Amino acid sequence: MKILVLNAGSSSLKYQLFNMESSEVLAKGTCERIGAGGFITHKRGGEAYTEEVDFPNHGVALEKVLSLLCSKEYGVIASIDEINAVGHRVAHGGEMLKESSIITESVIKYLENIVPINPLHGPPAIAGIKACLELMPAVTQVAVFDTSFYSTVEDSRFVYAIPYEFYEEDKIRRYGFHGTSHRYVSAKLAEVLGKPIEDLKIITCHLGNGSSITAINGGKAMDTSMGFTPQEGVVMGTRSGTIDPTVVTYLMKTKGYSAQEVEDILNKKSGLLGVSGISNDLRNVVDAANQGNKRAELAIQLLINSIKKLIGAYTAEMNGLDALVFTAGIGENQHNIREMVCENMSYLGIEIDKDKNEHFTRGIPFDITKEGAHVATWIIPTDEEYMIAIDTQRLASK
Ligand code: ADP
Repeated sequence: MKILVLNAGSSSLKYQLFNMESSEVLAKGTCERIGAGGFITHKRGGEAYTEEVDFPNHGVALEKVLSLLCSKEYGVIASIDEINAVGHRVAHGGEMLKESSIITESVIKYLENIVPINPLHGPPAIAGIKACLELMPAVTQVAVFDTSFYSTVEDSRFVYAIPYEFYEEDKIRRYGFHGTSHRYVSAKLAEVLGKPIEDLKIITCHLGNGSSITAINGGKAMDTSMGFTPQEGVVMGTRSGTIDPTVVTYLMKTKGYSAQEVEDILNKKSGLLGVSGISNDLRNVVDAANQGNKRAELAIQLLINSIKKLIGAYTAEMNGLDALVFTAGIGENQHNIREMVCENMSYLGIEIDKDKNEHFTRGIPFDITKEGAHVATWIIPTDEEYMIAIDTQRLASK
């Protein structure tokens, strides 16, 4: 079975074509600058091909993707008829879409209805789905939601303590994001430990440019750090993470900022970038800190503290912890950050082997637990696209 996975952003369209029998990625790539020029990078095996193309919309970008996948020079299939199903990454499934779903008219309608609570990611995802339905009307389309992994979180953990009608009428609540990644790495962890996930209390740390931490108790998400939007939780590349909400109104009142301006400050100019004044990329912030830059040091310490606090909170919520997982760009690559997070956590049973942590092998699940520690600590490379392909295969085969 061949499955095309699509991830449509506001000006981009990422794709991967999987051969499910061999779990192999046949080709992948990205269309960028959609709506403002256009550029495609297409990869097949080790070869990469790039071309400037005008992409007025997601539909034209998808047409280009399909033609490259089928082309003589760069292609991997003879015709689009070889694609058995398409899996779409959809950030927000609202309250109704609690699991990955075959796309129908009513799914699209619901996604359109919740655009007000998902204004950035909703419209491009819908555009990608519609383009696909038009170009491949006979092929099963599946939507996989970042939020659906959190359908098991209880209301005592997702309702904000504000007047209840804002939840009932406006659907203001915590939703959680990155669910596909947390689901993938927790399942992988259970597999490598050789234990049923139902028996495990796991905390997964997805630390990238956007970051979130999730408590998974017996295979079910119990709590997570992102909330109504991906803004809540730990310190991120350009996002503040959790702050006192009065900061927002104070800035508006005293500086005369509009709602949009404050949102931009908290979303695009805060986090590691805002505190260090150097970069949203942790590598640059670490370099600066190593050269004695105090604000870079502070930004890193804020990040570490925000992660540690949540690990403590989630261990308390689950009444214990069996395993801690690091994943995504920072979690998979930055041993210094893993070491700082795990420092002074032996009370909770978390102790890592510094040597294994520093000399880890990239790209595979890697155990960094210190001998004798109560909590297993692992690096597990995430693979959201493959998880989407698996869900798509399962639903399309029914
Ligand atoms: P996104 O959330 O946009 O998918 P990533 O998961 O790629 O981002 O994470 C980006 C962060 O991960 C950056 O702060 C960067 O410093 C870090 N990172 C990514 N790759 C590496 C690497 N090979 N070595 C060290 N740090 C990395």
